[in-house]
Formats: sequence, C-alpha cells, structure tokens
Amino acid sequence: MSNSPAQANSNRPATLDIRLILEAVDFVLGSAARPVELHEPRFGERERELVLDCIDTNWVSSAGKYVTRFEEMCAAATGARHGVAIVNGTAALHAALLLEGVQTNDEVLLPAVTFVATANAVSHAGAIPHFVDSTWDTLGLDPAGLEAHLDDIAVRRNGEWVNRHTGRRLRAVVPVHIFGHPVDVAALGAVAAKYDLVVVEDATESLGSTLKGQACGTFGHSAVLSFNGNKIVTTGGGGMIVTNDDEYARRARHFTSTAKKPHLWAFEHDEVGYNYRLPNLNAALGCAQMERLLAMVDAKRELAERYLAAFNKFSGASVYREPAGARSNYWLNTLVLDPECAGARDALLSALHEHGVRARPLWTPMHMLPMYRNCPRSPLRVAEDMYARCINLPSSPFLAAGGQPSANKS
Ligand SMILES: *Cc1c(COP(=O)(O)O)cnc(C)c1O
Repeated sequence: MSNSPAQANSNRPATLDIRLILEAVDFVLGSAARPVELHEPRFGERERELVLDCIDTNWVSSAGKYVTRFEEMCAAATGARHGVAIVNGTAALHAALLLEGVQTNDEVLLPAVTFVATANAVSHAGAIPHFVDSTWDTLGLDPAGLEAHLDDIAVRRNGEWVNRHTGRRLRAVVPVHIFGHPVDVAALGAVAAKYDLVVVEDATESLGSTLKGQACGTFGHSAVLSFNGNKIVTTGGGGMIVTNDDEYARRARHFTSTAKKPHLWAFEHDEVGYNYRLPNLNAALGCAQMERLLAMVDAKRELAERYLAAFNKFSGASVYREPAGARSNYWLNTLVLDPECAGARDALLSALHEHGVRARPLWTPMHMLPMYRNCPRSPLRVAEDMYARCINLPSSPFLAAGGQPSANKS
C-alpha cells in the first residue's frame, strides 16, 4: 500500500514542528491575501454576461436555455449520455436514490467519512444509513472491508439480501470520491454485484476526476454532482443526476419537475413529484464556469503538486497523493499527520487559523453525529484514524498562481 501515509513515513522521526508547517503552507500560498479560505469561487466577465442575459430576457426560473445547455456541458464533461439539473446535490442524491428503487426502511451502505449530505439523502428517502469503513488507498469506501462486513451480516431471505441483525433489506451502496480521489470502483462493483446492491455514485466532489481515463460520475448506474459554492464548479447552489440510461434520465427529469405532463395549458401530474429543478439563473452561472472546468482542474493539480513538493520528506506529516491510475481534481488538499502526531491536530488547526489559513479537520464521521449514532455499521477503525489525522488545506484554483486570481480571466 504505497499510498498509506503511516507506512510511507515510518522510517522518519515523527515529530511535528508547527512553525515549519506554517512556513511550508506560506511557501505554497505565496502572496494570496489573508485570510485564505478553504475553497472560494472566482467569477469573471463571462459569468456576468450569462447571468445578466437571464435577467434581461426574463428567463430566470427552471425553464430556460441555460438549464439544458448546462446539462449538456456536464454530460459532455463526464462522458455520460444525460445530465438532469437539480437544485442542489443533496436533493439530487435524494431523487436518485428514490428513482433507483430505495424504499422506506431499506438499508443503504455508505462511508462513515463523508459530508453529512450523503447520509441525509438516505434518510430523506426513508431509508437507514449503514456506515462502512474507508481505506487510506483512496480515502473512500473500502471494497474489501465492505465485502468482509457483508459476508458477516448479509443473509438471503425471500430472494433478497437482508441485514441479519435488523431484518432490513440491503438495497444500495453510495461510494463517495472523497476530495476528488476516485474510489476503487472495479473492486466495489464486484462486491455490489455479489450482494445485488445498486450503486449510486456520490461524485459531488469529483467533477473532472478520472480513473484509468474514465470520468467519475460514470461508474454506477447513476451518479450525482454538486455545484455548491465551495465545489470546483459552482452555480451558487445546484446539483445534477448523470446517467447513461435514457429511460432513467427521462423519469428523473419528470420526477424532479413536479411530475407534470407536458401540455400547453393543462396542469396534469401523474405521481407525487418533487420541485427540484435547477433555475436558469443558476444554470447560466454554471455554463460560464463549465467553460473553465479543464483550466480549473489543471490549476488545482498544479496547486496539489506544490503542496506535495512543500511537504515532501517532511517530518510528522505528508500531503495525500492521488491513488494509482487516478487523475484527481484534488478538490481539497489533505495534510495527513503521522499516527504519533495525531495529538497535535487541534493545536495545528488553531495555529493555521491564527495565521490566516482557513484549514479544517475532516467532517466528523457520520456515526459520531447524534442523529446517526444508532445506525448499523461495520468496524470503523480507518474512518476514525482518518478523522484524527487529516487536515484540509486551502485549495481554491486561483491559489495555483501564488494567490493571483488567474482563473478570473475568461
Ligand atoms: C457537496 C456534497 C454533497 C452535496 O451537497 P449540496 O450542498 O447539497 O450540493 C453531497 N455529498 C458530498 C460528499 C458533498 O461533498
């Protein structure tokens, strides 16, 4: 496991000099104005032009040319056949889970290490989040750990796989490409096939990332993107369902626009749909941003290289490198403390904040949050270890130019 930070560092003395870390971070961030936020968008003339066009033409709501154009741009960027634009990533996950047949009281497997939206979407669908462990190989869900856990708890009843402890149906698995690093999807797919689990990819952090040349968002039957303000491409708030399945895309579009049948004047609805479509205003911002996706991925990869170089052969900590075969968008750069230095995490975070660097720890793992404390789960040793040792560093694309807003030129 060349990617295991604990092993990579094992032949070095593990001491953490906070002053040296501040110096290394300063070296990377250069002349960027302090405080340096974790992830910020930059807008240029093109964003202004397209958003103003919505206002000038009165097309601000969810019917409008930018919604379709934005869907086509995201489909083209991932290589998926369809994109269905949704108000935000959480709503897109919610709708995707329902459309994949997740029902009340089903269990849906997901990593304990993720942003809370993944677990919330499962709950919104009436299902029960079932947390599984992560791997240092990718920072995402561990397929081997998932298989061992399912071998232990899954039993076949009436033609379905159920959790023998709870009696509930095991229905789906939601891998998350954490910080843009692709999960080992081939291994995961094999486990999902063994246990008849539908794979819904949470690709909200990984727009622009690829694994062996294939884009994140195209590994499952359906996937979800997010365009929240801190993501690589933003629409203010927004999300998307992407899929290669024509019929699924048609159903998704219908289901998320109040299930209204197309008609010149009549209001006919044929099921309880959702009002989840993305407004044209947001899509217009997204179209302008998508024109710069490749440049932003390049800038983020350049920034990652600078962090990696600054912390190369550093004592007590290292910067996380993308998994083998992956080309990551490095959504958030991650500093991993050596196991012996985990105790210094919060002192380091304080020092970084006082220094004007808005670093943060990993999200509190889901099973530690009050509303998810009693959910089913596998052993979560790696998840808890990651939480103890990982710190995200400022990762806005414009920081690649030493803090000059180069991404602003459009
Ligand atoms: C951003 C994100 C989402 C979706 O969040 P929204 O703010 O609702 O767009 C879902 N899962 C993960 C892991 C995310 O990082």
